[in-house]
Amino acid sequence: MNYEKYQKKQKQHLSSVDQYFLQTLDKLDALADWNDRYNRTMMYCHDKPLRWREGTMDQIWIDMYNAAKNVLNARIISDYVTAGEVSAAVRSKSGKIYVGVCIDTCSTLGICAERNAIFNMITNGEHEIDRVLCIPPNEGKGAPCGACRELMVQLMPGRYKEIEIMIDYSKDRVMKLGELTPEWWID
Ligand SMILES: [Zn+2]
Repeated sequence: MNYEKYQKKQKQHLSSVDQYFLQTLDKLDALADWNDRYNRTMMYCHDKPLRWREGTMDQIWIDMYNAAKNVLNARIISDYVTAGEVSAAVRSKSGKIYVGVCIDTCSTLGICAERNAIFNMITNGEHEIDRVLCIPPNEGKGAPCGACRELMVQLMPGRYKEIEIMIDYSKDRVMKLGELTPEWWID
């Protein structure tokens, strides 16, 4: 290779490194923006409930909250996938707690945290839900969406109405799925 060719190659090499560097900076900027928005949202939620502070809150809900909190980790995985902005814990009838995070993707391939936790429970050989708790990225309302309710109904026809759902952890507000969805197409 002559010197001129070598120089040209070096330039190409440098420019691709520069390009990569600039792309990385853009991505870091986007990530910082996103983290900043996320942190500002998280600042005013997840206050410990009064009953938690008084020491009278049901320990199972506290354990579920802590388990969900452990996997709450909002992050950008690729240009098309983000995850962990919402987390959920599902307690099975055997008393085990299963967790899941939301996964958001381009073209609707993602999943809610609750259904991810339920699938985790099924993966581990169980299918009877006792309680559901979710940590959402807003002021603490954790009512499950229609798709998650539908899955719970189909998993436990005739028994789903007894599933307890933490609607608002900061207020220790619990409802049964039967109260949330009194009229469903499956009894
Ligand atoms: Zn859902």
